Order: sequence, then C-alpha cells, then structure tokens
Amino acid sequence: MKNHGHFGKYGGRYVPEMLMPALEELEKVYEKVKKNKSFQKEVHYYLQTFAGRPTPLTYAKNLTEKLGGAKIYLKNEGLNHTGAHKITHCIGQALIARMLGKKRLIAETGAGQHGVATATVAAKFGFSCTVYMGETDVYRQRPNVFLMERLGAKVVPVAFGNRTLKDAVNAAIKDWITNVDSTHYVLGSVVGPHPYPIMNRDFQSVVGKEVKKQIIKAEGKMPDYIIACVGGGSNAMGIFYPFIKEKLVNLIGVEAGGKGKRIGQHASRFNGGSVGVLEGFKSYFLQDNDGQIQKTHSISAGLDYAGIGPELVYLRDKKRMQFAAVNDKEVIEAVSVLSKTEGIIPALESAHAVAYALKLAHTLSKSKVIIINISGRGDKDLFILARAFKDKNFFNFLKSQLSI
Ligand SMILES: *Cc1c(COP(=O)(O)O)cnc(C)c1O
Repeated sequence: MKNHGHFGKYGGRYVPEMLMPALEELEKVYEKVKKNKSFQKEVHYYLQTFAGRPTPLTYAKNLTEKLGGAKIYLKNEGLNHTGAHKITHCIGQALIARMLGKKRLIAETGAGQHGVATATVAAKFGFSCTVYMGETDVYRQRPNVFLMERLGAKVVPVAFGNRTLKDAVNAAIKDWITNVDSTHYVLGSVVGPHPYPIMNRDFQSVVGKEVKKQIIKAEGKMPDYIIACVGGGSNAMGIFYPFIKEKLVNLIGVEAGGKGKRIGQHASRFNGGSVGVLEGFKSYFLQDNDGQIQKTHSISAGLDYAGIGPELVYLRDKKRMQFAAVNDKEVIEAVSVLSKTEGIIPALESAHAVAYALKLAHTLSKSKVIIINISGRGDKDLFILARAFKDKNFFNFLKSQLSI
C-alpha cells in the first residue's frame, strides 16, 4: 500500500472526499518535481534572488563569552525577505501552483505572518490572493492586514465561531472545496493533510543543508545541539531534517510555555495534549475530551497553535528529538539579552529557542557547539515589545499619530 504521508501512526490525510482529488494531484506533481533538476533550480533561483538565501550562520561571540560555556552560533533566518523563514515554503508552493495551472492562492492566517508571506509570493508570481482571517485577529493584527492589502491580497474577516485561526481554517477549506480547479491552498507549516508536511519540510530543509556546510567551515565538525522553536514545526524541521541521521547531534524543539501550566495558559502540546485527528491530520493537539480544540496562549503569535506537525511527534516518540518549554517572561528576557549582546532583535517565536539556550550553554563545556535557529526578526513584534518593556513614550507616539 502507498504511504500517504504517515510518520508512524501520525500524519495521513483526513479530509472531506471532495478535496481528495486536489491533494492527490498535489502529491503527484510534488513527487515529480522533487527530483526534477530544472524545478529545483528555479526554486533556488528565487530563494537566492528574491528571498535572500543563503542566510548567514553567525558566531555569537559576546553571548558565548557572557555565558561561559558552549560556543553559540545563530542561523539568522530573520534576514529573509519578509523577515522570517516562511517565505521559503511559500515560494516553493507558488511555483508548484503555477505548474498545476492555478490562478489563485488562498491561505488562512492567525497573526498574519503566513498571510503576508502568501500575499508576497502571490504578487511576485502573478496570482490573485484571498486570505481568511478571524474577525478578532483582523482587529488585533491591523498592521499585517494593512501589509497584505498593500500587496494586493483580499483579506476576508471570518465572523463565525471564536473568530480566530480555527474559524479562518474552516472558511479557507470551504473556499478550496468550491474553487478547487482554479485555486491552490497555501499551508503555512509542516501540518495539515499529506503532502503538506513532507512538502514544506523539504522546502525548508535548505536551512539545515546550509547550516551543515557553514558549521563544517567554521568549526570543522558537526554541532552538538540544534535548538529551534516549534509552532507547527516548519522552521524546526527545516533545520533539523538534514541532521536526523547525525545521531550525535541533539535536536531540541522549544514550545511556548506561555503564562502558566494550566490548559489555556500555554501552547505546549506536550503539557496536556493528546493524540487526535484535526484539520486533516493525526497528531498531538491541545484538545478537550470531545476532541474540541482548546484555547492556547503565547506571547508569540506564531507559536500560539493547538496542534503540531506529525513528524515532530514521531521523532519525539523515537527519542530522536527532545522538547522543552519556556515561559513568556523568559522569552522577553531572551529578546533583551540577544539584542544587547549580539545586535540581533529576534522574533518572539525565535526568542523561545534563545531562552532555552541561555539555560543550557553554561552547563556545557567550551568544546561543545550550539546552533540556535533565529527563525525571524523582531520588527513585527514592535507593539508587543513596547508593552512588554513598558515603553510609555512609544504609546505617547501612537496617541500623537491619532491627532493628525
Ligand atoms: C510562523 C513563525 C514560527 C512558527 O512556525 P513554525 O512552523 O513552527 O516554524 C516561528 N518563527 C517565526 C519567526 C514565525 O514567523
């Protein structure tokens, strides 16, 4: 029997019958282009000339000396166009959609980061674009709505349910079922039905491939630890995947510990989550006894998600990957430390990986090497950071803008 994207008992494809043909077509085309040199060349052309790859691996000399333990390197994905790793799998999917003859891209978005990346590739490759967003999120994330609209996308506020991400997913699926002939659904992480988890992992694995070359050049050996934050898991799988066979490299995923350990206060799937089937795939979810998605919280929008990519759960079961969680307070501290020691303001998501490294580095000897995946830069978090750092002048500035 054909493997429909199963990772042990996780993954798979659990969708309405009407979407099966579209997913099968996507899978078929993806399997074909995966080995096609000219397609891969085209992807790399846009990664280099549009997204800005390769991103640097930077030795964090000041931070290393401050902590007095393992040597720390930063993979700076924040230097990608649009500020994070997401552009990479969006470029890949846009080129596949073009091969499939689709004219339109749709996406759902919570905080808007995935929506902005999708709207960006839609503009670049000449697709029309509709982004579904819960009404509550449209209100909370106006700057990203503004950016998507400038990029020519139509942002549709979803006014049912909790009016957040889950409801936007439902609206996007409904759209896809109606318009499947003309439309490609751009999924933003290593989640969803097969082939999305494999496809997005493969596109993102360019990150790990670059790191391998860069660290060999810098240190002449493999790293001892690679640390990445985990929302859906795309930046983590991207940097981890080429290292899975290197058994001595410890792979650590960091989840959002939020404000506390109770359900609703965090987004750590391995603290209260359980196996279930939701949004088209089998994995770990924060869910109640009826299989309804639970509320989650994280200071970082990108990690504020009740599910996790199936391959990460599989690797955890196999003990090839370990998970940790850090809380919002530790994350803010990590933003501050990295900014002041290294001149890099990380995204709040990425700061989770930094916060864990701050606890780990000094426990290791100076001969060890840690690589932290800085999945994005912190510019997008301006408003949250201003509040976290209690910057009154910033809010006075916002007030002054209203009187124009
Ligand atoms: C979206 C986002 C994430 C979380 O997504 P993954 O699929 O887990 O990588 C992490 N970091 C940044 C900067 C993001 O924008």
